[in-house]
Formats: sequence, C-alpha cells, structure tokens
Amino acid sequence: MKITKVEAIPLRVKQVDATANDGAQETVIVRIHTDDGTTGIGEVDASPFMVKAVLEAPSSHNWSLSIQDMLIGENPLDVERLWEKLYQGTIYTGRRGLVIHAMGAIDLALWDLAGKALGRPVFELLGGPRREAVVPYASVHAALSSLAKTERRTQEMMEKVLEMKFRAVKLQLVYADVYTDADIVRLVRLARRTLGDKIVFMIDVGYRWLDSKAAIWTLRQLEECNLYLVETPLRMDDLDGHARLAEAVTTRIAGAELLASRWEALDLMDRGKVDVIQPDVGRAGGITECMRIAKLADQRGLLCTPHGWKSGLTIAAEIHFSAACPNVPFIEFMVPELWPSIIRSKLIRPEFTPQDGLIKLPKMPLTTQFDASGSASRESRMAATSASTIPAISVRVTFSWSRIRARKIVTRGYR
Ligand SMILES: [Mg+2]
Repeated sequence: MKITKVEAIPLRVKQVDATANDGAQETVIVRIHTDDGTTGIGEVDASPFMVKAVLEAPSSHNWSLSIQDMLIGENPLDVERLWEKLYQGTIYTGRRGLVIHAMGAIDLALWDLAGKALGRPVFELLGGPRREAVVPYASVHAALSSLAKTERRTQEMMEKVLEMKFRAVKLQLVYADVYTDADIVRLVRLARRTLGDKIVFMIDVGYRWLDSKAAIWTLRQLEECNLYLVETPLRMDDLDGHARLAEAVTTRIAGAELLASRWEALDLMDRGKVDVIQPDVGRAGGITECMRIAKLADQRGLLCTPHGWKSGLTIAAEIHFSAACPNVPFIEFMVPELWPSIIRSKLIRPEFTPQDGLIKLPKMPLTTQFDASGSASRESRMAATSASTIPAISVRVTFSWSRIRARKIVTRGYR
C-alpha cells in the first residue's frame, strides 16, 4: 500500500465569532489516499488555513521539505517512521508549533488508515486496551455575562451534568480579569455545593493568573472543594511559576493543551512540576506523540488527561489513545447539550453519547465506528466566508460504516 495524495479541507461555520472562547467553530479535515482506495481521516485543533498551507507548501531545501511530497509513495503503515521523517524534513521551520500540529492531523489519518487496513481498532495497534471503557469528563463553560447570570448558568449546568450521570466534570472559568479571584472562589463553591461530593470536580481557569502568589491564594480558599485538578492556572511559558504553585498547594496542577511535542511536555513536567499533563491529541503531534508523552508522564508517576474540543474525529482519537495508556483516568468531552457545535453535530454523526458516565471502547478503527443510519445522504453546508482571501466553500459530508468522505462541492472563488 502506498500513499497517493494528501488533502487538507478547512471547514468553518458561516459566521465565526473571533471573540468567542470556542475553538469548535472550525476544523481542518486531513485525508490521506492510498493506491488501494483506502483513505485515512484526521483533524487538528489549529487554524485550518494555516494547517493547509503547512501541508501544501513546496520544498524549500533539504531541511525544509514539502510534507505532502515526503508522504507520497510511502507505506502508510510505517506510522512512527513517517513521524520522524516529517519531523526531520521540516526541522528548519518546524520542531514546535504549527508544523507539529499539522503533523498531528497527518498522524491521526495514518493511524486511521492503519486501523482500516488491518481491520483492527487503533488501541489494539497501540499495545492493547488497558480498560473496557473510558471516562469522559463533562467540560462545561458558562459564557461571560453578568456575575448573577453566570452563577445561575453555572448552577444549571452542574444540575444537567448530574442528571446526565457524568462521573466527572470540569468547569471552565475563562473570565480573565472581568471577575475577581473572590468571584471565582464563589463560583467554584457554588458549583461544588450543587454537585455534592460524589462526583469528580475540576476547574480550568484559562491562564488566569500573572503570578503564582495570586493562584496560591485562590486555590487555598478552594481546598474545601476537593478539586481534582486546576488546569492552566498561569501563563503557559511561566514554568517556574508552575513549579512554585505545584509546591504550595495540594490540588493537582495541570496543563499542556497548547503544547507541541514531547519536549514541550517534558519542560512542563520536569521544570514546571505539573501533576497532570493534558496534550491535545492532534496538536501535540498526533497519537504517536501523545503515546510518548503519556509514557513519559507514567514514568514520572504523573497522570495524563487529554484535551479535546473538536469533532468526533478528535474524540475518537482521544478514546483510542487513552484506552492504550495506563495513566489516563479521564478524557475531555464537550457535552452537546451544553456546548452545541455545528462542526461536531454535522460532521460526525451520531455524536459520542456516554452511557452511565462511560464511553465503551469502539470495536473499529478511528473513523469507521460512526453509525451511518439515516445520514448517508446528509448534506452539511459550512461556508468559509470571513476572510477576504479565503474561498467560500460548501462541504458535503457523507458517512458509511466503511469510510467517511468529506467532499468539496462548491468553490465560489475569492471575495
Ligand atoms: Mg483548557
């Protein structure tokens, strides 16, 4: 089997709100074709148009090679070797950031291809399942509003999470300096009172604090809430601040959603002293790199709880990767009823639905587990219209048990 073509298909909702704290308004589907007709699908949580540019850029010189060209003619089953080939071939402009994110989408598509070619779930190819089901935590976020409204919405969301029988929940408190630390303390206490003490409760404060002292003050107020972890408390590159915070409080300190590569994860674990590493399965460099990161965390006695905000493709990758790791107690899960997204609901259907707080391991490769019932001819139109240099596209997405096809059907040209 040989790779014949690599495609990157950006998708956006019709009107993107660039001020919204919502990365699910767009995605990029990466599709890898082979000479026997098998295709693999991946995606990544990074600017779709930048990812497309990275994947389609021609070679510049021997240390800045074309990713597409490096893949054409290769055996897609050599997933780990291809990761190294792409990393070395882009060493001049890559190593971190966007190029690693784009490689993550390729890696997901290669694992999908491998699963399809061998007819086995990807977690089996990663060393075998460590559990029969993964535990999704409900990742919920009350959009910024007046404090009274945010309190009401927070309470409603916590009640809904209980009603839906989730076993764990993460409350996102991404309010920068609009709310004071005392407000944050009140919101978290309210949420814990509503939840009771029988559910795992974590918070994500979205890089809130400029220094570790403010974080320490707030987290000490919250000791009584028995938080499982606090995510992204400080600015991402303040590694020493993370270490001071981790030393000062009993709550687990977590982060890594933005990080690319195991080397950035190592910095956060070894210098930042975090307790929980949270790679995004595409952004960190794909399933291949996330397996390495989880293993490095495991060797240090640390936990790994992957980040994931995109479509069912990312959720599927989270599930397969997590199933194969001993130290992944939870995966991030956006609850459709609380955070609807057309990208998630229309692209991959049906959406994953936890039963009794669990998602059972799928029996099939990454993208062939989705139920086609009633959706075979479903058309989803998502137009990319916001930037003046971006062509408007509509996308038809069809599903079957054996494959998913994302086909560009209309190109209106440049506006
Ligand atoms: Mg986060």
